[in-house]
Amino acid sequence: MKVCVYTWGCQMNVLDSEVIEGRFAAAGYETAESPEDADVVILNTCSVRQHAENKVFSFLGKLGELKLRRPDVTIVVAGCVAQRLGADLRKRYGQVDLVVGTSRLGDLLGLVGELRGAGRGGAGRVHVEEETPAYPERAVSHRASRFQAFVSVMRGCDNFCAYCIVPYVRGRQASRPAGEVVDEVKALVDDGVKEVTLLGQNVTGYGRDRGETGALVRVLAELQRIEGLEWVKFVTSHPRDTGEDVFRAMRDLPKMCKYLHLPAQSGSDRILTLMRRGYSRQEYLDKVALLGEIAGEVSIASDFIVGFPGETESDFEDTVDLVRRVAYKNSFIFKYSPREGTAAAKLADDVPVADKKRRNNALLAVQQVQSLAHNRLFLGRTVKVLVDGPSKKDSARLSARTEGEEIVIFDGPTALAGQFVMVEITGATAITLSGRPTADGG
Ligand code: SAM
Ligand code: SF4
Repeated sequence: MKVCVYTWGCQMNVLDSEVIEGRFAAAGYETAESPEDADVVILNTCSVRQHAENKVFSFLGKLGELKLRRPDVTIVVAGCVAQRLGADLRKRYGQVDLVVGTSRLGDLLGLVGELRGAGRGGAGRVHVEEETPAYPERAVSHRASRFQAFVSVMRGCDNFCAYCIVPYVRGRQASRPAGEVVDEVKALVDDGVKEVTLLGQNVTGYGRDRGETGALVRVLAELQRIEGLEWVKFVTSHPRDTGEDVFRAMRDLPKMCKYLHLPAQSGSDRILTLMRRGYSRQEYLDKVALLGEIAGEVSIASDFIVGFPGETESDFEDTVDLVRRVAYKNSFIFKYSPREGTAAAKLADDVPVADKKRRNNALLAVQQVQSLAHNRLFLGRTVKVLVDGPSKKDSARLSARTEGEEIVIFDGPTALAGQFVMVEITGATAITLSGRPTADGG
């Protein structure tokens, strides 16, 4: 039996797919190269913007042709679109055999087995529950990188930002017990992992649903004791919940990387209020300043939404100004997309598409200049990098990352993959750094 898994969306989805693939592999499934070659095709989907959903729908269209030719293939839609649309998805796409929401991912393997066992008469099941169950157990040895791993510390989100579908499709925040997180990291490190990134929609609010405060910093401190683990990162931090204790941890705990993903979303107070983000522009800037005072040089990344309902040119200029003030390493910039059921969906989506596009491109251009300036700071420095492997663009060269998530390209043997190397930086573009390994090789 062969399975192939397609993934759209954020790092949580990437991790969920890895967990799903691991469970199928443990049950004896091989990996199929394409749907043509597969017995089971799983689409792990994203709902965060309409554009992401449309990609899934168009892929499903293609799978319809496959289903006509090979009715025995089992087509599963899993993840956020499955959770959001439930039974409607099967009404619209008859080729879908199974709809498995985010709340039932741990059962996906069993549900596929049941369905296939029941023969064609069993087709058409929908599994979407309200509650968020325990995180599915993971086959630690099955992962995309041998040296780096994501570890989920929570599911869901309680923030209900006005534009965001996540709390509706991934449920309320449910933090994993710290012991479980630490045990998973230990198992990964025993299996060769050197860098872990703790994942959560609101990782700096970790533990709050369990009545705990300061839980993220405590778990970070515990991870320092794991021998063989070298680098620890965490994403995504909500600015309202990110403060001095986290910044001190970044300064004081030796394995912490100087990287912070701190999405601002907008630089306009009026829009931040409409977005229900829970901080003002000045509060955000004050946090960034405090981070610098406490932890020194940290690479900061952000997310921005342009064209939120009611966003004027002047609001947008405030966002541009924020990007100029905070020397971001990079920003992910999105055009606002109304999501049914969210608070913002009740507001008129009144920024014309052309203005959204123009603002998106304009902000991207400003960020590119900032990214170049950020990267140029590294020229002439020697930095420690973890080598990922051959560069995707030029397989004769190596691609590595700094602790701040800057990408470094250099010449070296592929045997360096998974090693920490010291590289002298000799070139910088807005996207990558380049350099040469120092003589001692780090
Ligand atoms: N929990 C994270 C946070 O609060 O920053 C990220 C959640 S979301 C998966 C990733 C990004 O998508 C958000 O930071 C936001 O910029 C963007 N996003 C979410 N909803 C959106 C919408 N309706 N339209 C456009 N972008 C959206
Ligand atoms: Fe969505 Fe806001 Fe939660 Fe992030 S913090 S997942 S943007 S509701």
